[in-house]
Amino acid sequence: MKVRCPDCDGEIDVPDDAIAGEIVSCPDCGQEYEVYFEDGELKLKPAEMVKEDWGE
Ligand SMILES: [Zn+2]
Repeated sequence: MKVRCPDCDGEIDVPDDAIAGEIVSCPDCGQEYEVYFEDGELKLKPAEMVKEDWGE
């Protein structure tokens, strides 16, 4: 399915069997989004850029 990018309004192709937590990226602006579901609807939220900090 196609979902509108919240950022640039581009079309993001999301697999029909996407599961919560899946990461998709916008072909237009490159922003990465995490799939989640709210009230049975598929939504996107900006993926956290997890910084790996293995400092001691
Ligand atoms: Zn975009």
